[in-house]
Amino acid sequence: HIIKLNIGNPAVFGFHTPERIVNVLKDHLSIADAYSDSAGILEAREAILKYDTAKGIKGLTVDDIYLGNGCSELIVNTMQALLNPGDEILIPAPDYPLWTASVALANGKPVHYICDESSDWMPDIDDIKKKITPRTRGLVIINPNNPTGAIYPLEILQEIAAIAEKNELILFSDEIYDRLAMDGIEHISTAAVAENVFCITYNGLSKSHRACGYRCGWMALSGPRENAEGFIAGLNVLASMRLCSNVPAQTIVKAALDDKLPDPDCIPGGRLYEQRNYIYEAINTIPGMSAVKPKASFYIFPKIDAKRFNITDDEKFAIDLLRDKKILIVNGTGFNWPAPDHFRIVYLADIDTLKAVIDRFGDFLSYYHQ
Ligand code: PLP
Repeated sequence: HIIKLNIGNPAVFGFHTPERIVNVLKDHLSIADAYSDSAGILEAREAILKYDTAKGIKGLTVDDIYLGNGCSELIVNTMQALLNPGDEILIPAPDYPLWTASVALANGKPVHYICDESSDWMPDIDDIKKKITPRTRGLVIINPNNPTGAIYPLEILQEIAAIAEKNELILFSDEIYDRLAMDGIEHISTAAVAENVFCITYNGLSKSHRACGYRCGWMALSGPRENAEGFIAGLNVLASMRLCSNVPAQTIVKAALDDKLPDPDCIPGGRLYEQRNYIYEAINTIPGMSAVKPKASFYIFPKIDAKRFNITDDEKFAIDLLRDKKILIVNGTGFNWPAPDHFRIVYLADIDTLKAVIDRFGDFLSYYHQ
């Protein structure tokens, strides 16, 4: 039996779509059998418009909102529509690797900027500035972050917005974990801070409503777009080519976005909150391991003392752990982290399972050496 902590798929850990939302979906099934407008049904786009406007994004209309089969599809389409061979996109390291793969698939060049563990995994602003070239088209922010669980404060977003404005970059802000913030932190949308920048904000129901399998995501285009006509035309062509996204899933967007925050799982006594506290504290008691406290999502990205264990290949580390202890994690270089000294744990598992993981990890590291 393998304890699989490698993928952020809440339902397999007992986090299911709320019954109220499932019932809305059931009620709409009989009217969800036709293709919809390729950008999505109006009711869903209006609900997203209301949600994003309430988060401070200005000037949006329903025409700026596109539904997709998860935001994964929209991320891939964005890069397909935008990039010419050799165009560069700045992507965080560590990243959610779909971003890097999407840029590469579109013949672009992913360029990674460092997020700094010693400052709670904030983007390193100087590193971003250093990596801008005449070929840089845009900058990706994942906030709240996968894999680090960081949430970016206003000042960081303002600095990034200023860089984007000065260098005429598009900002791509992946905010799929915005409703899973903890510790009373209020999530700020990049586009609300970057009014003078062309932004695309991505979100969806996979994580917030534990509905990964429904495939329901969206993107919202905001800010000035005088030079983006060809790109937007490309987005429309790609949306039309797949006709429309999953219509039953679109019918629950309005009800889902009416749910009030905070998420009950993310407050004291809630499962995600308590599991986060447990894993964070437990990891920091294992000799040779340390981690920054995640503030959102359900991931932690611990550091492992690579020198102490002589780790030069973190994929081998993950495989050795799997073979010896039947625990599946993902090595940090899988998130485009440059050194073999981190890995990601999905802490969706219940505390008893996490306790078993910590025990096995402690034992593994008592003898492991590469
Ligand atoms: N963006 C981030 C940061 C993610 O972690 C994930 C899934 O893990 C996605 C996007 C994909 O979301 P979707 O299910 O909407 O395709």
